[in-house]
Amino acid sequence: MANIRCRCGNVFSDGRTPSPHEMTIVPDVRIEGLSNAILDAIKREGDLEAEIPFLLATAGPTAYKCPRCGRLLVFEDGIDKPYKSYLAET
Ligand SMILES: [Zn+2]
Repeated sequence: MANIRCRCGNVFSDGRTPSPHEMTIVPDVRIEGLSNAILDAIKREGDLEAEIPFLLATAGPTAYKCPRCGRLLVFEDGIDKPYKSYLAET
């Protein structure tokens, strides 16, 4: 995905790596499995610089914070599906 259109009308790019707008929401039920996968990679002496960022980035839904309005755009069903947006009430 190159450009993301927020409900406020702002269009911003996620092309930069690491992106200042992108985050991964890690569900609590996945933390132990994620931790174990990281420990396994360390024990195997794998390519940690590649494996650990991949494990973290794929541990849960991707979300973006709109730099204009602060809405959180959550892609719960995958990056190619519509997002749900959340706006702070206060
Ligand atoms: Zn916005």
